[in-house]
Amino acid sequence: MAELQPFPPGGRRVDRPTEAALCSNCGELVGRGYPDCAICAERIDDLWWADWRHLLSSTGVQAGTDEELDLARRVLSDEVGAYPWTCTDWALWLLRCAECGGQLGSGDPGCVACAASDAARWAWDHQALQHRRMTPNEHALRVAVAGLRAPHRHRSAALAGWRLALPFLFIGQLPTTSQAQRIRAHILAGRYDELARLDGFCAMASLPDLPWRSTS
Ligand SMILES: [Zn+2]
Ligand SMILES: [Zn+2]
Repeated sequence: MAELQPFPPGGRRVDRPTEAALCSNCGELVGRGYPDCAICAERIDDLWWADWRHLLSSTGVQAGTDEELDLARRVLSDEVGAYPWTCTDWALWLLRCAECGGQLGSGDPGCVACAASDAARWAWDHQALQHRRMTPNEHALRVAVAGLRAPHRHRSAALAGWRLALPFLFIGQLPTTSQAQRIRAHILAGRYDELARLDGFCAMASLPDLPWRSTS
């Protein structure tokens, strides 16, 4: 079944930087201020926007019109894998949820309609990863961006982890499972500021334990 769907790639129309650089606006590594810093948001969202812009031009639809909202509804109602994952996300960002009034798929945490839209979003990744139509880095990038755009739906430790990771996911890196676990343990130990000064997943995972702190 899944082979019949195209699963077009997403986020590959824009060349990504090869090194994490400081953002001229927020002063942190590009991506770490996402989505509140305008420059961080612009740089990251450009991967999504390039695909959506291409879809708009190929369908003759103008941005900011009712036709664009109709297109977003069509994208979401089509089969999983019919459009790039970036376009699925952009469609969700454009539409409001009819049930809870929030952004579709990331509104009220208890909203059934949002839960259904969110589940459809991740069905794309589940199938595409199996068929190698999406890289693990692209999946991690999508997860981090979706999470940071819906902070009310996640624990602060998860948000901190995505914020720390995004600059390095953006340049194509991916933590190993054990690195991710180590970094998470450091976050839970309240060491975000120390982690934020380090250059990459390897360095963050290698932050030495501070056992003498455990009684403080
Ligand atoms: Zn920034
Ligand atoms: Zn909702």
